[in-house]
Amino acid sequence: MSVNFNGKSLHMKALGQGLVELCFDRQGESVNKFDRQTVDEWQQAINQLKAADGVRGVLVTSGKASFIVGADIFEFTPLFEVPESEISAFNAGQAAVFTAFSELPVPLVVAINGMAFGGGFEMALSADHRVMADAAVVGLPEVSLGIMPGYGGTVRLPRIAGSATALAWTTSGAPQKAAAALAAGAVDAVVPLAELRTQALAWLADAAAGRVDWRARRQQTRGPVALDADALAQAEAATAKTARHYPAAAAFIAHLKRSAGLNADAALAQEALAFAQIAKTPTAAALVRLFLNDQFIKKKGKAYAKAARPLKQAAVLGAGIMGGGIAYTSAVRGTPVLMKDLNQAALDLGMNEADKLLARQVDSGRMSADKAAGVRAAIQPTLSYEAFDQVDIVVEAIVENIRIKKAVLGELEGLVRDDAILASNTSSLSITEMAGALKRPQNFVGMHFFNPVPLMPLVEVISHPGTDPVAAATTAGYAMAMGKTPIVVQDCPGFLVNRILNAYTLGFLQLLHDGADFREVDRVMEAFGWPMGPAYLQDVIGMDTLAHVVDVISAGYPDRMTLGFQTAPQLLVEHKRLGQKSGAGYYRYEADAKGKPKKMADPDAVALLATIQPGGPEAFSDEETVDRLMLAMALEAGRCLDDGVAESAIEVDMGLILGLGFPRHIGGILHWADRQGLAGLVEKADRYAAISTLYQASDKLRARAAEGRRFHEN
Ligand code: NAD
Repeated sequence: MSVNFNGKSLHMKALGQGLVELCFDRQGESVNKFDRQTVDEWQQAINQLKAADGVRGVLVTSGKASFIVGADIFEFTPLFEVPESEISAFNAGQAAVFTAFSELPVPLVVAINGMAFGGGFEMALSADHRVMADAAVVGLPEVSLGIMPGYGGTVRLPRIAGSATALAWTTSGAPQKAAAALAAGAVDAVVPLAELRTQALAWLADAAAGRVDWRARRQQTRGPVALDADALAQAEAATAKTARHYPAAAAFIAHLKRSAGLNADAALAQEALAFAQIAKTPTAAALVRLFLNDQFIKKKGKAYAKAARPLKQAAVLGAGIMGGGIAYTSAVRGTPVLMKDLNQAALDLGMNEADKLLARQVDSGRMSADKAAGVRAAIQPTLSYEAFDQVDIVVEAIVENIRIKKAVLGELEGLVRDDAILASNTSSLSITEMAGALKRPQNFVGMHFFNPVPLMPLVEVISHPGTDPVAAATTAGYAMAMGKTPIVVQDCPGFLVNRILNAYTLGFLQLLHDGADFREVDRVMEAFGWPMGPAYLQDVIGMDTLAHVVDVISAGYPDRMTLGFQTAPQLLVEHKRLGQKSGAGYYRYEADAKGKPKKMADPDAVALLATIQPGGPEAFSDEETVDRLMLAMALEAGRCLDDGVAESAIEVDMGLILGLGFPRHIGGILHWADRQGLAGLVEKADRYAAISTLYQASDKLRARAAEGRRFHEN
């Protein structure tokens, strides 16, 4: 029987002299990946190789620019929902194909032409010899999805490159360049791409002719592997801190410890069990969900970019904290920007800020002095509206006062081109009301950046009922040109992110009113995964700002966001405890050696806050604390979806992750709700409804729960 296989994912042909080329080349797609179909076809190809006469060696190549990018992550969600024993059985079946390949009785060589991640790299590890193009990258990024390699990588990499390399690469998930891969012994040769095939074939011909003892080399990977004690201790120390929420790296280390002393076959059996166990963790479900969310958001971004008008010149009104940051980010990313303020001093402040940011880039070697000079020249400070007739978009970032904003936007509208977009960076005012003051409301949107602008990845683009979708898409396109992730939402008090945050804040304030100790709440919520507990967060935001924002947003939802008692921030403001900026809020702050505010306990605050706990202090279980805050947040997030404020559950979840630092290992607030089960969520809401109007389950939520639907419907 001769070798000739033509599948959808790979094909195989004889090269003469008993050598065979197996080429991964998925039809109709730009990359190769290991989905079920590919593994299935690979098995068929292996069967054919086994049955064929005269095969003396196999060369594996890719027909794409990358080699194989990894497993098909879209298949993970349904797979991870089945019982653990089914996952391990399925995985063992898939991994057996890699092993069957590795056991073909002829030399096997892989030509790694480009990216080989996860399953792609594991494919390469199942061969006897690896030749890598100098610009290619390999790696095992599974930990970033909350899992570990499951196609033999945890067994073959340590046996090929040593346990220290396997520990470092697998626990970090980091991509590895060719030089590092060669130094580690994970590949055998690195060559220019143009020579890749020739060199790989030369090795194969040598091995087939008996000039290379490939059998001895293969045999070395079949036994146990020595554990490097130093590397092990280092990896254990490095993962200990994060293991609670991100257990995959620690699980891999434990698996390696268990399986290093076994022969490869027994270790592979262990891998299937360990893989299934980690795949069942909530973190794996969350991180896989986030990966898919990311793909969705990128796809949406492309659609915005397609619908957007071209945008060459921007302008910013206001050179303050936000305007300065927006102008800098625009210029750094290549869109020149006019920056207008009322007085020279404000402009100087804005430019000084840009200079500081640029100097930091140059000093750290991330930017050349020339580029920095170019960026600076792309920000044009001005006191006049001259040249505003040239701009494609103006972002307004002046004082937060609707009367002034309306007047300024109205004036501006007469100075720009008819098709120019006006965007307001207001954090709390009504976009719809501002639009009402304009002659061309269709070209007006909200463009809500987060502070500090150069660092925060999210931009909410806010449409009002009269916004032209092209104007929203163009604004989203501008945000993407600035390196941000835009989420287009409909106007409502607080927009998407702050509206949902407000429900969480009120849940916290209600809990304090009911007698909770804020230090305990911070401890519990930080253990849950928030970067800061709610009291600490309020100290950082500033109590006056926070109290104002809470008032403004809550006023928009009086039926459920009215607390009816004096809140902690109101009391703290009265006592001039404004948080970090005044040296004391819930906590006290002293500058540390580096001048950074250090948080300290403050009995005065505890005593003060006891005065607004009418029922006296009360201890709450960790579970109730989490429930009260997260439930309030989840219910509001569900309303945002059901009311059409955001178009999808994904955008709600990503808004909070990118805008608030919502804990990634939870996967998003609506993902969290889905995992609780919506019937359970309603039941809890009904239980807490007597405490506060915050916990009303909406009719739409009840309907979803009754129909067994989730927020994330796929
Ligand atoms: P800021 O006080 O630092 O800066 C405002 C600047 O606008 C000042 O330099 C002022 O001189 C200038 N200005 C006032 N009227 C002007 C006019 N008619 N024309 C040109 N310039 C004018 O304020 P900020 O913190 O940068 O906030 C600006 C806007 O961004 C506000 O609407 C605010 O709600 C919003 N925002 C702020 C944050 C934040 O964290 N600071 C976050 C999101 C949104």
